[in-house]
Amino acid sequence: MGVVGAGGAGFPAEVKAASKAEYVLANGAECEPLLHKDFELMKRYPGEIVAGMKRMMESVSASQGRFCLKEKNREAVEAVEPVARKAGIGLTLLGDFYPSGDEYEIVYAATGRLIPPAGIPLQVGCVVNNVETLLNVERAARGEPVTDKFVSISGAVKRPCAFWAPVGTSFADLIAVAGGMTVERAGIFVSGLMMGTLTFDLSGVVTKTTCGLIVLPEDHMLVQRKSRPAQAMAHIGKSACDQCSYCTEFCPRYLLGYDVQPHKVMRTLGFTLSGRENWSQWAELCCACGLCTLYACPEDLYPKEACDQAKADLRAAGIRFVQTKPVRVHPMKEYRRVPQTLLRQRLQVEQYEAPTPFLSAGLQPARVRIPTKQHAGKPATPVVAEGQRVKRGDVIARMNEGELGAFVHASIDGRIARVSASEIEIEA
Ligand code: SF4
Ligand code: SF4
Repeated sequence: MGVVGAGGAGFPAEVKAASKAEYVLANGAECEPLLHKDFELMKRYPGEIVAGMKRMMESVSASQGRFCLKEKNREAVEAVEPVARKAGIGLTLLGDFYPSGDEYEIVYAATGRLIPPAGIPLQVGCVVNNVETLLNVERAARGEPVTDKFVSISGAVKRPCAFWAPVGTSFADLIAVAGGMTVERAGIFVSGLMMGTLTFDLSGVVTKTTCGLIVLPEDHMLVQRKSRPAQAMAHIGKSACDQCSYCTEFCPRYLLGYDVQPHKVMRTLGFTLSGRENWSQWAELCCACGLCTLYACPEDLYPKEACDQAKADLRAAGIRFVQTKPVRVHPMKEYRRVPQTLLRQRLQVEQYEAPTPFLSAGLQPARVRIPTKQHAGKPATPVVAEGQRVKRGDVIARMNEGELGAFVHASIDGRIARVSASEIEIEA
């Protein structure tokens, strides 16, 4: 049925469902500033989400379920609480901090357990699913494959909103639903300001893992910072990092007890002639939350990007750091949490924080471009030919036996206009 992690990871749900665990955690933390799609989903579909969670609990033989969401989202809490309680599922109410949806954070908040370094929740008896994934699990059990994605559109648009969009809909069509942009030239953050990607291409398309779009003026500080070339980021870091170590002191993974020390990774930028093989190991357990670059560093440097590069280079060289010392929560963890309001101020986006009300009118794009890889694993193999007619929900690309991945389905009725190994285009 094509169900994959809808919060961004795209991990095939069937693999998680085939495991055995004590806990199933529903992740409704949604801590990316200006993204509200999970909030709207939890308000609208608490019954289906909880039903999907129960199915997942049965599948993995879990004795306990915890529904994790932010206490400040009162409307979502009020919608979810009675349904969850009736199903014997408890709530874990989270503070309004960034990050709180990271799997390591959420497992610790809900169970007090610490995932082993570089490990996965299953190692401490937990399966974690985004709330939209659980909704998709329930719909899949009723025979409905994943054809649509729930997204919120915010920032410099006329009417911020949240709605279902057929997978493969262009960003231009999504932004049109929100009344269009309020600025002439903009950068588009896909799935978040902190962990998402920046694009200027309106022909990009929504996939099963797109959480939403945040439109910011082209001259906004975040657009400017994110579009700087990696080499320039490294050059600035090399000359300006004063090793104050604020990036490490605020790092959520460091505060949870993992050996992540971005200031030491920045230090390696200074070793001009020694080459990339001398990246330090302290990036390995970084979760790329972006807090060091976009909040902690007083010099506006790029420790997160240095960690990204270090991880990639060390992996390419076949070097993998494994923390051997025990994971111990830092005594200052709770005192160094970053409130969303302060984060929005630091990101200079407070003026764009606005509700994204649910729009029920279905979006009907004239064409969709559906990628064959929207999930962890291998791309799906197209099984349709150009000119063929398809109905919404038909399988258009499938996985071979034993391959990690997910089937891909037509998201609208129409005619196959183009097929390649990476994409299938359907005209309505
Ligand atoms: S916070 Fe900035 S200046 Fe301080 S050590 Fe980290 S990268 Fe360097
Ligand atoms: S991006 Fe920075 S703050 Fe976030 S986990 Fe990595 S090193 Fe820590």
